[in-house]
Amino acid sequence: MEFAALAERADRLAAIDGDIETTLAAADLLVDAGSAGDADVAGDADAAADTDTDGSGDDLPVVTRFLLGRVFPAHDTRTLDIGPALCREAIARAAGPNVSASDVEDRLAERGEIGSVAAAYDLGGQRGLAAFGGGRDALTVAAVDEALRDLAAESGDGSESRKRDALFGLFTRCSPSEAAFLARLVLGEMRLGVGEGTIRDAVAEAFLAPDPERDGEGDDAPDADGEDAFEAADSESNDLALRASDEAIAAVERALQVTNDYGRVAVRARDEGTEGLRAESLRVGRPVQAMLAQAGTATDAVDSFGEVAVETKFDGARVQVHYAPDGGNSGDGEGLGPRLYSRNMDDVTEALPEIVEYVADRVDVPVILDGEVVAVDDAGDPLPFQEVLRRFRRKHDVDRMRETVSLRLHAFDCLHADGDDLLDESLRVRHDRLRAVLGDAAADLALADDPDAIAAAERDALDAGHEGVMLKNPEAAYTPGDRGRDWLKRKPDVETLDAVVVGAEWGEGRRAELFGTFLLAVRDEGGAGDAPDRDDPDDAADLVPPGYATVGKVATGITDEALADLTERLEPHVVGESGTTVAFDPELVVEVGYEEIQTSPTYSAGYALRFPRFVGVREDKSVDDADSLARVRRLAGDD
Ligand code: AMP
Repeated sequence: MEFAALAERADRLAAIDGDIETTLAAADLLVDAGSAGDADVAGDADAAADTDTDGSGDDLPVVTRFLLGRVFPAHDTRTLDIGPALCREAIARAAGPNVSASDVEDRLAERGEIGSVAAAYDLGGQRGLAAFGGGRDALTVAAVDEALRDLAAESGDGSESRKRDALFGLFTRCSPSEAAFLARLVLGEMRLGVGEGTIRDAVAEAFLAPDPERDGEGDDAPDADGEDAFEAADSESNDLALRASDEAIAAVERALQVTNDYGRVAVRARDEGTEGLRAESLRVGRPVQAMLAQAGTATDAVDSFGEVAVETKFDGARVQVHYAPDGGNSGDGEGLGPRLYSRNMDDVTEALPEIVEYVADRVDVPVILDGEVVAVDDAGDPLPFQEVLRRFRRKHDVDRMRETVSLRLHAFDCLHADGDDLLDESLRVRHDRLRAVLGDAAADLALADDPDAIAAAERDALDAGHEGVMLKNPEAAYTPGDRGRDWLKRKPDVETLDAVVVGAEWGEGRRAELFGTFLLAVRDEGGAGDAPDRDDPDDAADLVPPGYATVGKVATGITDEALADLTERLEPHVVGESGTTVAFDPELVVEVGYEEIQTSPTYSAGYALRFPRFVGVREDKSVDDADSLARVRRLAGDD
């Protein structure tokens, strides 16, 4: 495919409004790219799908990646490493002797976007005609891809100027729309309105939709110029729909998750259909996107999962470990020393030698593990996240820094072990495999089914210097790149509340001499009217002093020592008693955390704290400084 054809189609793609129209037009473009040169590669899907395209004639993987602003697949650690300044310099040179890099920068400031700046200079017109004797040597998609791959391979002294020269050479061969496409591509700023979701759907639509006839007009292949979808977009926008089934789209999505390569997946879909996509599997040495978490509460977790896997949330940097001890790589029978990838799939192996050693020492089967690298002090206690950053992407002085900051891996998931892909297995199963691989170096899976137990685990994690807890669905599969509801990061406490202790219940058993549960109230300036009769012992359960409104009871988070202290301080203020319930004069202000504030008829404020936790006594506050009902309303979102 000529590069000019791709650039022109891309311009038209960018001008289309509407998601379905865009997807259909992208699908048409993929069909065209995929049929242009496939005679050369028929029967050799592997070669075509290989991430290292070698000019074999199949434009599909390249076009698919280019549309997403990529030359290399996401898992590939190679980069073009072309910054905006280098790109501006190459454009300036191609624009002619009267244009400087700062002129280009000025134009960029005016136009705000590098593509339209490159197009405005008519670079091919300036140099191309002169250099090529009046006929522009047409660029092909494959040639641009190859040139950019060569450019990415430049390294060492003078590599920057060689990159600039190569890019300049390409620009001098570009028409305005090609120059715009190239400039956006090398900077990874395509702005076509075509995101990953669009390409996923377009691949399904292009190659997996049930009816091969596009538009129902009976021609087997789309028009060479891809008019169909554009006409459809103009004339039939009301009844446009994708023909690809949800199942087909899911198969594409799945293959993308395990391969992280849109080009490869497009080729598989075209050549082998849904079955071929389903056959794609993880490969040790090819990182996948990390599964992510949403914020959530302990109650959310218990409500949704029943039993909750409670893990320490480590404050470090995410790492995916790939290791295939000799001869064990699932893909090709070759060994692979431990490789470590960041959350962005950058290769960070060289920066973390002790993690490499740790893995090599313990693991003896091929694995893909997910975990967090944390910095620790001499006692093994965690250090703040910033300390990890001092090590994480370091290319120089690694050994010296290793003396200063020690790192430790906490592996918490296992995506592949000994030839088995585990993405579809439950966390329970994956964790068993993790234990089998790492032995005692992996913690037991801790399960809890009530918020109090989760709160206790969180306190332990915080006390040990960690960030908190992650709450995971033990039955859930591992979904790469997905920020779903199966992993919840416990929300840090919302603002705490400073409440007045207006009552208590005596404890039971060995704590019968101590108060156990404390009734909390906030100031309610407007609500003094219907206070209960505090002299009537029968009314003691409701004993609320005038000017206060109750919001809940707290029993969690109070140590034995704090209980004894509270009892001693509050006993002199008892003003009424009924059974095991007592009422106090408002004297003591305590700080309480909670998960949320709900409206509730149970307490006189009309609100209740969900899962209140005792934080401490506010020695510095008198009852007049305690929080008000107005603040509770605000925190509940009602004001
Ligand atoms: P956040 O960065 O606040 O969105 O929290 C999610 C991040 O917590 C993940 O990307 C991991 O880097 C990190 N993390 C720490 N411990 C765990 C764990 N046990 N499970 C999953 N992620 C964890």
